[in-house]
Amino acid sequence: MDLSIISTYRCNSHCSMCNIWKSPTLPSEEISLAVLEKIPGGFDNLNITGGEPTLREDLMDIVDILHPKARKLEISTNGLNPQKLEPIIKKFPDIKIRFSLDGQGITSDKIRGERDGYNRKVPGLLRLKELGGKDLGLAITIQDDNAGDLVELFQFCQKHHLELATSALHNGFQFHKSDNIPYDRLKIARNIENLITAQLQTWNIKNWFRAYLNLGLIARVLGQDRLIPCTAAVDFLFIDPWSDVYACNVRPDLRIGNLIDQTWEEITTGELMKEIHQKVSDCTQNCWMVGSARTAMRNPHFTRLPKLSPLFWVLLNRFKVGIGLPIQFEKTIDYTHIYKDFNIVRRESYLNTRIKPVIEYKDQPHYQDKYENR
Ligand code: SF4
Repeated sequence: MDLSIISTYRCNSHCSMCNIWKSPTLPSEEISLAVLEKIPGGFDNLNITGGEPTLREDLMDIVDILHPKARKLEISTNGLNPQKLEPIIKKFPDIKIRFSLDGQGITSDKIRGERDGYNRKVPGLLRLKELGGKDLGLAITIQDDNAGDLVELFQFCQKHHLELATSALHNGFQFHKSDNIPYDRLKIARNIENLITAQLQTWNIKNWFRAYLNLGLIARVLGQDRLIPCTAAVDFLFIDPWSDVYACNVRPDLRIGNLIDQTWEEITTGELMKEIHQKVSDCTQNCWMVGSARTAMRNPHFTRLPKLSPLFWVLLNRFKVGIGLPIQFEKTIDYTHIYKDFNIVRRESYLNTRIKPVIEYKDQPHYQDKYENR
């Protein structure tokens, strides 16, 4: 099972597709070290995310507690404070770190509202590599303004032996966002096709399976059903900064319990968990985020291996690309069926606009919007 811990809703980025930064948590109300101690061991991927986890003063203590509890411990960061990660990478060179970068240069800075962000985070990530980091990479949220940069970013990662994690726009309570809609779905999908082809042209098995993840992103971007059903609450869980445990980071109605008041076992084996499993199997949202896609691709019996459908697609198309044939995307994706949007809200850049964040306290009602993905 995978677990994501949203360690804080404080964030020093001002992204156009994520409103976390407008409603930060109070540090004293964020998930504590004592609560983290209650989490059992044995996870596959355990992700410390946010908000921005490097804003937690106790990040090293968090890593010390969680590192033994997972096969792979990950920190998802905006990369604006790379120096805070240096002692962590020196102590745990195997830790997985992904810096969010949403395009080349000013494109990323505009989307993420980060002044000089690109110029700070790229050298910062390369410095972590010099210090011995073994699992470093970039993470991009693919959208209209950066889809054209995908192949170039992938090649940059290849050159520097970095990974490239991809996602698409999603609505969800974690992002405090309900209006993330692509403007031109087909154009984004075509750019993802180019990335898939580039990934299958390499001699790296991880890249080949990432190509399948990206195939799922095309279905997501076009507004179609998931390629593989979601396995939330079975294969992954989320914990928010107030220690509430959820099946996923999209639907707040999939809350299972609270780790301050309950034990891990009470939460994960209680009656409510059965109801949540049913709600997940009936869920009609077509999310395809790294956490919900990677876990869905896993073979339920041998979690280090993929399910048969992604395996066949990967082998067939790697072979085709290898002998110079094009990938026939239309065999898997129905390009005649693209979701029609109404009321598209243009996302505003906060690069040169500042809005004062308002603290969201633990006792307030949270996640009031309706978070739909199609
Ligand atoms: S498909 Fe449904 S259950 Fe799965 S992550 Fe999305 S909202 Fe959650």
